[in-house]
Amino acid sequence: MSSPDSWTTFHCENPDFTVRSVPDDISFRVNRESMRNSEVFRDMFLIGEGGSSGHEEQTVDIHETAAVLIALLRLLHYPPAPPVLKPQEENWQYGIPHHKWPKRMYDPASVIPLPLLLDLLYGLVDKYAISDAVAQTFNVHLLAHASTFPLQVYGFATAQGIDYVANEASQYLMPLASYRPHEIALIPDVLAYHKLVQLQAARVKALRDLVIGEEIFPHGYGACPSHQQETTACWEARRTALASVIETDTDIAGEMEAMAESLPKTCKACQKACTAAVQMLAYKSRKTLRRIDQLPAES
Ligand SMILES: [Zn+2]
Repeated sequence: MSSPDSWTTFHCENPDFTVRSVPDDISFRVNRESMRNSEVFRDMFLIGEGGSSGHEEQTVDIHETAAVLIALLRLLHYPPAPPVLKPQEENWQYGIPHHKWPKRMYDPASVIPLPLLLDLLYGLVDKYAISDAVAQTFNVHLLAHASTFPLQVYGFATAQGIDYVANEASQYLMPLASYRPHEIALIPDVLAYHKLVQLQAARVKALRDLVIGEEIFPHGYGACPSHQQETTACWEARRTALASVIETDTDIAGEMEAMAESLPKTCKACQKACTAAVQMLAYKSRKTLRRIDQLPAES
């Protein structure tokens, strides 16, 4: 489990060694073999074994607070598992998929909280040279936060060179102009910022083209004999209005769906055509450019 609590307590089942937090003067019984998951401790033991008589237990002083040491000991003794995916069906229970819904959803209880990851755990992996497999598991946890905290995740992943996570996060960002300066400062450099500017401009254009191009009765298909003219006019007025206010995170299908209200409510043909056109928009808007790795390569 990765609940926040699980990172604040530590207990070792088969201890044969002791480490002490120097600032807090608290000792922890630990397992020597597990401590070897850190290259730093592996090296320390190598040196220690040369001179020790072997069997008596030793204590190693560590200059970390007890809270940090607990997290480190947990990492070494119980390497975290990747977050647990929710079954796919749960994502699609509401019919028309919202453009912002992630393709993968995780059981929240299985995901390591973002502040813990960014402020502590990645740093420990680095400082104590813990195996790369642990960092890769953290990357999957980071990915699981992409849809909820896209800016933090994009900024961190870009700075660390975890491209596949940065790409994933890029699609969930709000329009850049809507962020506050201290939030935008999470983006590590101007090139990473510029990529987002390009993405958002290209996506707005693509969404606009989709809205302008989507007919309610495509090639006369499904046309309502009673209201063809007024329904077509109504759809066109709405899409023209929408096209001028589209932002990168506009749910074009959701916006157009609302117009079913203004169509003759009891007319099955009109309502059906509207639903079909909205579903087509939802499908196309999910397919269209949404991530920085889909931008054309720079020459
Ligand atoms: Zn009709």
